[in-house]
Amino acid sequence: MNKREIANLLENYFPDNKLILLSNRQPYVHKATPRGFVCEMQAGGVAIALDPVMKMVGGTWIAWGSGNLDRKFVDQKDRVKVPPQDPKYTLRRVWLTEEEVENYYLGFSNRSLWPWAHNLCGEVVFRRKFWNFYKKVNQHFTQVALDEIENKKSVIWVNDYQLALVPQQLREKSKGQMIIFFWHIPWPNYDVFCILPNRKEFLEGLLGSDLLGFHTSNFCQNFLTCVEKELEAEVDFESSTVRFKDHITKVEAFPISIDFEYFSSLAGSKETRAMLVKLRNRFKLDNTILGLSVDRLDYTKGIPEKLKALELFFERYPRYQGKFIFVQIAAPSRTKIKAYRELREEVIKLVNQINQKYEKKNWQPLVFINRLVDHKTLSVYYRLADLAIISSVRDGMNLVAKEFIASQIDQKGILCLSEFAGAYEEMEHSIPLNPYYTEGFADAINRAIELPLERKKERIKKMRNYIKEYDIYKWTYDIFRSLSQMLIPKPKKDFDEAFIPK
Ligand code: UDP
Repeated sequence: MNKREIANLLENYFPDNKLILLSNRQPYVHKATPRGFVCEMQAGGVAIALDPVMKMVGGTWIAWGSGNLDRKFVDQKDRVKVPPQDPKYTLRRVWLTEEEVENYYLGFSNRSLWPWAHNLCGEVVFRRKFWNFYKKVNQHFTQVALDEIENKKSVIWVNDYQLALVPQQLREKSKGQMIIFFWHIPWPNYDVFCILPNRKEFLEGLLGSDLLGFHTSNFCQNFLTCVEKELEAEVDFESSTVRFKDHITKVEAFPISIDFEYFSSLAGSKETRAMLVKLRNRFKLDNTILGLSVDRLDYTKGIPEKLKALELFFERYPRYQGKFIFVQIAAPSRTKIKAYRELREEVIKLVNQINQKYEKKNWQPLVFINRLVDHKTLSVYYRLADLAIISSVRDGMNLVAKEFIASQIDQKGILCLSEFAGAYEEMEHSIPLNPYYTEGFADAINRAIELPLERKKERIKKMRNYIKEYDIYKWTYDIFRSLSQMLIPKPKKDFDEAFIPK
């Protein structure tokens, strides 16, 4: 699947429509560096997928201007053309006050919705103030979007849980727009869903969209069940549609992916090969197996659970003492939130404890790298690793799992993957693990290490072929194609008649 096909689809089906994207995070940020001002691309799954599309078809991307130099580079309407060296589309920056950041972003988005969606009810904090600011900031984004639409027909893509009320707000104030909403984190089951105050209003917000995407069919089912139980809506599980207040929303699973070619060719690059030799020497890997994890330092990633499993692994399988090194890359995240600072302390304590318990001359079992590592360096670690461990207690997808597989150009590294990561639905050739069951987890690590090379290769090959086909561009294409299919028949009076084309 290539980027041009996505642009062609948009041009064919939505020739007069303006493309408008809304996300909390912006694709480009203006920063000061020792070399002067720079405008850097923020690499995230969605930016990687949609930046090339925006470059081809043009349009406006609306996002929070979070960089400290962002204000310097916008015009009077808070717009800047990007990318700066070859401008192709407009970035419209939205400014947030400190109080808004505190309550809408750090508060409702990250302390209420994030743990709620990940089933971690013990971490959830609800405050009326968080919710009020969340609504206010969503309204602000909606207002900016209306300003950008300028009463033209538009395809509007609203991205993620920070902006769930925008679709309904947009629909109330503007007619004839096609709205996609993509929810990138898990959707909880009905029991957990019910702990969300204002849950009806929250659902109604999302049901303003025409197409509502989740990463897995399980999240779609959870969502439909919540709507059925909570609202006076018609839910059709077979066609996966909801009719609410005369508007129809299609709910569909689109598992997000990565730029396979980028990771695969990065892994084979000269630069990676050169760094590989250096790191092999640094870790003295001649007779040593390397295990790897790459996470944001987040409590959903199951990092303490993994460290406990590793401790047990060394105890149960002592032959690997001195023969197995585990590298945990943990990028700092949301450090303004106490739960994240406490998690960091817990992880450091566990790493030190385990290292002290097992350390031998010339061998330290665990290496903890607590910083953001760039993709070039990650690529070297991905190639160096004999196994990658993804131990999320809950995860919308987990792109690291896919990046690791795409980087296995010599097919030697195996993937141990939590059954509770969205990626698990697709990565059936990984070695499954349950982060809550320490003994089983330790055995899964052993099983992965001892898998014969030929069997590893077979599994990796299958997973690589899959990700190559279902890459990030296929993800984007499938979403726009699904939206285009909704254009043809108009909603009918009788809901039982299929409204989605066959
Ligand atoms: N990542 C990175 N450097 C790091 C750690 C992570 O660039 O030090 C990237 C990683 O390559 C991946 C993303 O951050 O693209 C993490 O995505 P994932 O879906 O695994 O988890 P999320 O952080 O979205 O919960």
